[in-house]
Amino acid sequence: MNLIQKLERQDLSNLGQELHHFAAELYPICRSITGDGLRQTLAKIQGRIPLQTFEVPSGTPVFDWTVPKEWNIKDAFIKDRRGHRVVDFRSSNLHVLNYSAPVCATLTLEDLRPHLFTLPEHPDWVPYRTSYYKENWGFCLAHNQMLGMRDAAYEVCIDSTLKDGHLTYAECLLPGRSTKEVLVSCHACHPSLANDNLSGVAVATFLAELLMQQDLRYSYRFLFLPGTIGAITWLARNQANVGRIAHGMVLAGIGDAGVLHYKKSRHGNAEIDRAAAHVLRHFSESAKVLEFSPYGYDERQYCSPGFNLPVGCLMRSVWGTFPEYHTSADNLDFIHPEKLLEALRVSAAIVHVLEDNRRYRNLNPYCEPQLGKRELYRSTGGPHIAEEISARLWVLNLSDGEFPLLDIADRSGIPFPTINEAAGLLCNAQLLAPVPEGLGNGVESDPNETGSSAAVQSSISSSA
Ligand code: ZN
Repeated sequence: MNLIQKLERQDLSNLGQELHHFAAELYPICRSITGDGLRQTLAKIQGRIPLQTFEVPSGTPVFDWTVPKEWNIKDAFIKDRRGHRVVDFRSSNLHVLNYSAPVCATLTLEDLRPHLFTLPEHPDWVPYRTSYYKENWGFCLAHNQMLGMRDAAYEVCIDSTLKDGHLTYAECLLPGRSTKEVLVSCHACHPSLANDNLSGVAVATFLAELLMQQDLRYSYRFLFLPGTIGAITWLARNQANVGRIAHGMVLAGIGDAGVLHYKKSRHGNAEIDRAAAHVLRHFSESAKVLEFSPYGYDERQYCSPGFNLPVGCLMRSVWGTFPEYHTSADNLDFIHPEKLLEALRVSAAIVHVLEDNRRYRNLNPYCEPQLGKRELYRSTGGPHIAEEISARLWVLNLSDGEFPLLDIADRSGIPFPTINEAAGLLCNAQLLAPVPEGLGNGVESDPNETGSSAAVQSSISSSA
């Protein structure tokens, strides 16, 4: 049973709700690029999948960057003269400029104003702002809330710490038959924002859970890390190993009601790009494929010219293009169980293509074999008899050892699973045989990699 069949067998309505519940469980945590909120988030993910966490000391140079000080926060507020909290961290962690230095003072409203951030165009929303690399402190609040502040002076307190500590990230490694890897990366550094970070975290976690139950061709490495600095840190620590990454995708902003988008890797025509485009084309007419650009999520780092990894990005509404982006309106109502589930299904369908995209050789290449006498000129029971038979003819014709199944699917216009199924039937009928991997795309046959595979296995078991 392939991945998609396995997914379709589960109670799907329930799975969508489960994804949403998981995002809801993580939602209240005050995350940042370092600190205990990130650790708590990783611990919750570890409750579902085997995870190895890494702690990188502040001050560690990572390419052109430095791992910053660790940030933690207990409380923050602005109190009016009656002692009433007019802005309260306890009601939303977005109220604090993320990475604020500690402060405790009484200030005039005029002196406080440069430290207040609002969104006049959406006066009831709280913006999400950060000050990672330039020490500052501040509060984010609804514009209408700020207009209501009329006292001459206010007591402000941010009970945070910003000191040497660690940057935390985590990996879930699922070993397959090959040590060639598929990288799945998502950022987990935003506080209470649902689509921008938690949707990707939830879908990646559930995808890993699904793959844990499979016999895998590739090894899969899931990364849960703080955006930008986390990906840069990971690449700096794994520069020697990136050659084993055969395909990759960033999952982010994937639970809102917008249409699905896949942003291509810098290669533009990598296998992951073609697999994702194929899946989206057959999944929904409105889904769009975008060319690579050097902004967006962490694909920027994986696709920087020194690495140039075949890593794309699967998302729904494109970052920065919707008004709720980086505001309190990116909440749990902004993401939907059925959209999260759809994202999981599309991700699984892409993985299915990567797993089964092989080359075959027609064993009876001189004229068409007679399908009728092998019972291959009739349906296996599916509703699309003509397409099933058409798929068999396409696979037979193009399987000269050169074209992998994805090429055949694209050229025929037939969905990959139908083409793959046809290849299976033709193999059973001894009309087709897989090209040994070493002669095809070299995935399983590199004997030099066996040792590292064993090391990978042991690191997973020690981390679980
Ligand atoms: Zn963001």
